[in-house]
Amino acid sequence: MHKEKLRIAFISDIHGNLPALEAVFRSIASFEVDSVICLGDIVGYGARPNECVELLRQNSIPSILGNHDAAIIGSLPPSRMNTNARIAAEWTIANLNSDNRKFLQQLPMTMELQSILCVHSSPNAPDQWEYLFSPTEAATSFSAFTQSVCFFGHTHCPVLFTNPIDGRRLINVGSVGQPRDRDPRSCFGLYDTKSGSFRWIRVEYDFSEAARHIIEAGLPAYLAERLSSGS
Ligand code: ZN
Repeated sequence: MHKEKLRIAFISDIHGNLPALEAVFRSIASFEVDSVICLGDIVGYGARPNECVELLRQNSIPSILGNHDAAIIGSLPPSRMNTNARIAAEWTIANLNSDNRKFLQQLPMTMELQSILCVHSSPNAPDQWEYLFSPTEAATSFSAFTQSVCFFGHTHCPVLFTNPIDGRRLINVGSVGQPRDRDPRSCFGLYDTKSGSFRWIRVEYDFSEAARHIIEAGLPAYLAERLSSGS
């Protein structure tokens, strides 16, 4: 019989940061979760894209497509990205093996399960890669889905919006591999489908090791430096 999924861990924006992803998996293992779902941007910025994709594949973790993943498979021109992101995308294109590229190619833009919608950027325009930061932007997004909760990533900033009319929620689960809320610790979300309770979990990891990988790969030093400040 199909087992109802009760507790789900949501991870997002891993960005080729293997030490962070491993630390998050260790933390997830300490909670009794029924499944793990990835909201995209598995690669880009960090220097361990193959290892991160393989960890998700080995653990059969369902994932959706992020804009950095899209840049690697050719559905988003790297020229539309900022300089550091573009350099990292070009490096990742050159370094990702074909099996892992194929894995990214089959990722869907959105995913729906029970009363949950998963998107990378925003529910109103998932393939436009808009940034959902403000309550005004959230109001536009609420009218674009009917599920009781929508989980997203993309901004790397954990935030929760509640629709004042019907109580539906939009929840950014934060970033595993490149947090930008001035807290360098990895972030992921834990959701209980029965009670509807949600919380963010922060996880210490060795960001100096991830920074060393970036420098050794010849990627921009800024991408290594920002990990220590979570910016
Ligand atoms: Zn991202």
